[in-house]
Amino acid sequence: MMHCPLCNSVDTGKVGTGQYYCWNCLVEFSVQGSGAYTAYYVDEDGTLVALGDLVQHSGVPAENFLG
Ligand SMILES: [Zn+2]
Repeated sequence: MMHCPLCNSVDTGKVGTGQYYCWNCLVEFSVQGSGAYTAYYVDEDGTLVALGDLVQHSGVPAENFLG
């Protein structure tokens, strides 16, 4: 059972090797091991937008996404 690194929900599904989708946040995230991960927002057309970039563009501190 993979916990979402953003919201800690267990409502996640595996979409690939080390890649999961959180149905609560509606984000995809890939786990690099030992707690490191990269989260992606899935755009309407299916494009993966790295959440880091999204944070940068919106000006919202990353801490807000980590809850
Ligand atoms: Zn989540």
